[in-house]
Amino acid sequence: MVSDPLPLMLQRLDDEPPVFFAEEAHKHLGPALERLVGLGLLRETTPATSAPCWDCGRGYVGRVEFVTSSRTGRRHAYIPCPECGAVEVPLDRLKRWAVDVPALLAAVSDAAGVRGPPAEAVTGHLWRVGKATWGQRPREVYFARHVYEDSRPALTAEMSRRPKALLFLPTEASVRRWGSATTNLAIALESVVTFGPAALSFDMAYVESRLTDSGLTDGVKAKRPPRKRAERAGKIEALVREMAEHLLAARDYAYATKERTGTPELLPRPSQKDLAKRTGLTKADVSRCLADESARELRLYWETALDLDQIMRWKGRPRGQKTG
Ligand SMILES: [Zn+2]
Repeated sequence: MVSDPLPLMLQRLDDEPPVFFAEEAHKHLGPALERLVGLGLLRETTPATSAPCWDCGRGYVGRVEFVTSSRTGRRHAYIPCPECGAVEVPLDRLKRWAVDVPALLAAVSDAAGVRGPPAEAVTGHLWRVGKATWGQRPREVYFARHVYEDSRPALTAEMSRRPKALLFLPTEASVRRWGSATTNLAIALESVVTFGPAALSFDMAYVESRLTDSGLTDGVKAKRPPRKRAERAGKIEALVREMAEHLLAARDYAYATKERTGTPELLPRPSQKDLAKRTGLTKADVSRCLADESARELRLYWETALDLDQIMRWKGRPRGQKTG
């Protein structure tokens, strides 16, 4: 078992459905299971519909049949094993617990000072957690989990109307995988929330620093004249389009080399000079745009171009997206 069960719970939210089976719950959560259930963060859900045969240990997994005894009125569970025949499975071993997302969000809100209540925005995938005042400004807070092809368009559409909202995802892995689905600042819950003695605790300083790093707090810097700003935005957009093209090419290259040699290879990232040539900008333009805090999409693609795993998952630039 682990001292802080929270990371395990958050990792489970990357899966669908986010459930723990009896064996792993006891093995990995141990006594914390009871506490998590007590806090409402985990709740018992429907029992498992299949189970391995523990009698012969051959790893045969059978579909569970429930039979109610007419004599005792008690329910029994059996699986058919090719070695042992019908084997009774103790009901406790079929128990499953699901992560209760609204309860978790309510607990996070309490710890983080988010004014709720949480409301589901895309069923099972996106919640509006509430509003919080961070970096001296009220901001909307969202939470997303398990963002895959089916849920991504709805989520992107919802978040594109709220470019300033902060988006929590369960884990750092999910931020790497899904964080680029929107231009919102994405923060992993596992990096800010810990399981305290009485409740969850929340690392506010970390959130504030991420907001500052992303240029989302009122800095001391004077605002640029609007015309210059618009000019810069145009240059950034051109670079974003070029980098999005590069990522597509890099993805094709990775799959092509993988098919040919068995090992995917990284298409080298263009240099700033290459980018300048391809977009008709000066080298100084490119380096200024890359250093621009508001060019989050550009900076993200610039980083992604070095990451073969992310490149291979690259699905193209989300539709209707503008650099801000
Ligand atoms: Zn068996």
